Amino acid sequence: MKNLALHWQILIGMALGVLWGMLASSLGLVDFTLDWISPFGTIFINLLKLIAVPLVLVSLITGVSSLSDVSRLSRIGSKTIGIYLGTTVLAVLFGLVLVNVFEPGKAFSPEKREEFKEQFASTTTQRSSAAAAVEQQGPLQPLVDIVPDNIFKSMTNNGSMLQIIFFALLFGIALIMIPPDKAAPVNDFFEGLNLAILKIVDIIMMAAPYGVFALLAGLVVEFAGNDPGAAVELLLVLGYYCIVVTIGLLFMILLVYPVLVMTVGKTKYKHFLKGIFPAQMLAFSTSSSAATLPVTMECAEKNLGINKEITSFVLPLGATINMDGTSLYQAVAAVFIAQAYGIDLSLTAQLGIVMTATLASIGAAAVPGAGIVMLVIVLQQAGIPIEGIALILAPDRILDMLRTTVNVTGDATVSMMVARTEGQLHPPTEITIK
Ligand code: ASP
Repeated sequence: MKNLALHWQILIGMALGVLWGMLASSLGLVDFTLDWISPFGTIFINLLKLIAVPLVLVSLITGVSSLSDVSRLSRIGSKTIGIYLGTTVLAVLFGLVLVNVFEPGKAFSPEKREEFKEQFASTTTQRSSAAAAVEQQGPLQPLVDIVPDNIFKSMTNNGSMLQIIFFALLFGIALIMIPPDKAAPVNDFFEGLNLAILKIVDIIMMAAPYGVFALLAGLVVEFAGNDPGAAVELLLVLGYYCIVVTIGLLFMILLVYPVLVMTVGKTKYKHFLKGIFPAQMLAFSTSSSAATLPVTMECAEKNLGINKEITSFVLPLGATINMDGTSLYQAVAAVFIAQAYGIDLSLTAQLGIVMTATLASIGAAAVPGAGIVMLVIVLQQAGIPIEGIALILAPDRILDMLRTTVNVTGDATVSMMVARTEGQLHPPTEITIK
């Protein structure tokens, strides 16, 4: 198992977890599974939660402060960030349309959804009093809530991810504005810290095959109880949910990016795809835009003929802040969980998801599993039970591979557009990176 690529290990962990869950429910091992296997799944989720706050804070600070020469790059910078935001918002909106049309969360049987609803109601009596408190606040309270009065307090309170993002942006901008010689050691410090945090994520991901096994086994027995037939329902509904996410991701790759590459980038999409294919494959197998970045840059320069000045600015920034696949997935996942728990999301709540999924995808680090960690923000902000994450964790690795491929393709698309409009696109000699 050791020599297998991580995504295979995880797929095997998943398959064995499901198998175990089904066996356990038919062999009467439900309690054993819940007592001795499930807790490892909880430990895995705890680890993911543990790293969320440092991950957002540090990756965002390094992302913003990498804009260092802001005067020279301000025009390119605002253009790049503008297009990045545009494609991300489009992706979230499309995700929302899809999940509202297909309603995968409502595919659970009425009894199952009633069960989810009761679970939710019984664990969240405080929620109603919190909701009542929110009702008494003024209309600008959400804006006020974004601005922390004590960043350490925000960091110890999981509900304040937006405050942490706010602080990281402010800090990153301040780093750009102070004299470079004074900023350099601070930047170095955060870059080192960033590396260490990414390493921790790597370490956590090493446990992923086991974590996923435990989670799936626990999920299946909890869902099925002593009735293995019910497990099939869970698998079918999750499969439906994955298909909805995949349709959205295909929409980006087969419709949005081709239009942008052909109209603004004035390049044949076939040529573009051929050029970045190696990066897409790497994104698929590593589930990490950051790990793929060196190859994305090389493909963009050598195969697509984009000037290094553009790639070295647009692509690293994109790997950190532009995640169309992730934001689309977060929108679908959040509404899917709400549907499963029988929560009706108002239009305002869904518009809130556009904002939080955009921010959460910006804040998500370009590493495996970051998207699902950041989903916590979207759920929290929309009042959807965070426990629902357990429901979608199982197939997450596969979706991570797909959405990372979209993330990387989106970055390359935008670098193509920026290069063309800046006159920095040269005909490449041949496709050299394979
Ligand atoms: N793995 C994704 C990336 O690196 C982030 C995510 O988990 O959605 O682009």
